[in-house]
Amino acid sequence: MPRYALFLLMVLPFFSRDAASADDYRAARERMVRDQIEDRGVRDARVLESMRNTPRHRFVPAADAAHAYGDHPLPIGEGQTISQPYIVALMTELARPRPSDKALEVGTGSGYQAAVLAPLVKHVYTIELEPTLGERAAKLLTDLNYKNVTTRVGDGYAGWPEAAPFDIVIVTAAPEHIPDALIEQLAPGGRLVVPVGPMYAAQELQVIEKDATGKLTTRSVSPVRFVPLRRKPEE
Ligand code: SAH
Repeated sequence: MPRYALFLLMVLPFFSRDAASADDYRAARERMVRDQIEDRGVRDARVLESMRNTPRHRFVPAADAAHAYGDHPLPIGEGQTISQPYIVALMTELARPRPSDKALEVGTGSGYQAAVLAPLVKHVYTIELEPTLGERAAKLLTDLNYKNVTTRVGDGYAGWPEAAPFDIVIVTAAPEHIPDALIEQLAPGGRLVVPVGPMYAAQELQVIEKDATGKLTTRSVSPVRFVPLRRKPEE
């Protein structure tokens, strides 16, 4: 092989890595949905469609864009993480989103879970304790033209009383016990999806449903690992 051809073979990957196109990302999302999500049993066609359409690479730090569609969580700064794609899809399916639903997410983080949920419901309210993350996610969701998402920086332990009741509540950080406010703010027929358990130990992904009479049923779905839902430090 001529010398220059060998040289090209060596340097080309470095150029092409920077030039991942919209098509490359779309192909990566198709593979992600097929191999990580459908294969593990997520079936809701609307959820799968939203996972195929949501540009996860925009929600991770730019340096990690190439790994955005891998089968793992990624750091997003401030010691927090964006969940593994499968867990986002699973939690979204468990919430059984319908077009008329009003949803609350506690733990905006990167904004990705809110973006996945947005096309599936009427409105998403999402609250984040950490101002740096909350403000960054708010800007990104606006830049990406998500019009039915409202963001707020604050303590999700109290829920979002002014916008309650919610048909869906998704908590993406783990409390040791489910905050009362989140159960109170669940509408009749509502679904609360939350990882519950002690910090730095195994947590259980739980689904709590409130029926038309207000009666609650709880079921555990699977062991998971989330960052803790933190209490706001006393001022
Ligand atoms: N849903 C996010 C991942 C969130 S990681 C995504 O799609 O990227 C959990 C987030 O919960 C972190 O950003 C953390 O700062 C936030 N958090 C922790 N305690 C909180 C609280 N009490 N209220 C609101 N957000 C909280």
